[in-house]
Amino acid sequence: MPEIHAHRRGALATLLHENGVDALLVTDLLNIRYLTGFTGSNAALLLHSGGDAKTVFCTDGRYTTQSESEVPDLERVLDRASARALASRAAGEPATYGRTGFESQHVSVEDHETLKVRFDKVHLIRTPGLVEQLRLVKDDVEVAALRAACAAADRALADLLEAGGVRPGRAELEVARDLENRMLEHGSGGPAFATIVAAGPNSAIPHHQPTGAELRTGDFVKFDFGATVDGYHSDMTRTFVLGAPADWQWEIYDVVYRAQEAGIEAVLPGAEVSEVDAEARSVIDDAGYAEQFTHGLGHGVGLEVHEAPSLAATGVGTLSAGMAVTVEPGVYLAGRGGVRIEDTLVVRDSGPELLTLSTKDLVAV
Ligand code: ZN
Ligand code: ZN
Repeated sequence: MPEIHAHRRGALATLLHENGVDALLVTDLLNIRYLTGFTGSNAALLLHSGGDAKTVFCTDGRYTTQSESEVPDLERVLDRASARALASRAAGEPATYGRTGFESQHVSVEDHETLKVRFDKVHLIRTPGLVEQLRLVKDDVEVAALRAACAAADRALADLLEAGGVRPGRAELEVARDLENRMLEHGSGGPAFATIVAAGPNSAIPHHQPTGAELRTGDFVKFDFGATVDGYHSDMTRTFVLGAPADWQWEIYDVVYRAQEAGIEAVLPGAEVSEVDAEARSVIDDAGYAEQFTHGLGHGVGLEVHEAPSLAATGVGTLSAGMAVTVEPGVYLAGRGGVRIEDTLVVRDSGPELLTLSTKDLVAV
């Protein structure tokens, strides 16, 4: 879809004008993917504020054919040392690239020294986070990919439950692989991150990695998992009980459920990210479990499974329409079990759009 990439490059060109630079040397591969659609493992992009006619893309010979189809709309250069090749191009044309920004957060000290040597006639300017700033707000193409990734995860979970895949005697690892395979069947390009299946006391460990531990009747079983579609990640957590829930399980499930609801309601354009965290956290605090909610409320999700903004007490900034975030409070009782409920959603003026749709009622399997 070359049009959407051209549109994003146009938005970046405007941002470069605003930041007083003629061009940006883009070296982060995800940023390059965002701006061009290129999915290979080596590339650089010299994006000029004057538009695509002066913008150059560079990759190496392994990607000749792939880059022809993925990046048909830009001048293409082949060079193994992509960033250096484009730095040389800029350095050789000071009239065009007089002030060139670079992604200082993605460049090693060594590369920075190399760049400085090449840039003796043009000003090399640290401009961290410009593409990331654009990536904060998702366009329709991105939201469609996120929606598809979330749908793959929803369907896989429904299939797993329907097939009786969550049952006593099965190992956490076995269930995790089963769930990942089912996501592949529903169009996922691969797991968004290492799938978490945590049973019994393990469910009290927020990011437990699945083991050979077997699921047992009476356990909480916590699933935190996601699919990927076109490089976009989904992220969802659901917690079930094997058999009839005990009173303590109902209690903490209800607290987390209400906290998650409060968090989601607070996800509105203009809301301070720390306030969204506080809205959900206060429900858990009021129930007496403040010490058992040990992490931030949520995070942005997109080409990376964890990206800006951070919905946490320490987070800064406000939400805008089009941002994609997770809301994932939890209560963890060490040695007994824990509950987390997580959705991926998009900030909308009319209230958040939920992308993960699996039921959040306490399911006894
Ligand atoms: Zn998650
Ligand atoms: Zn998450």
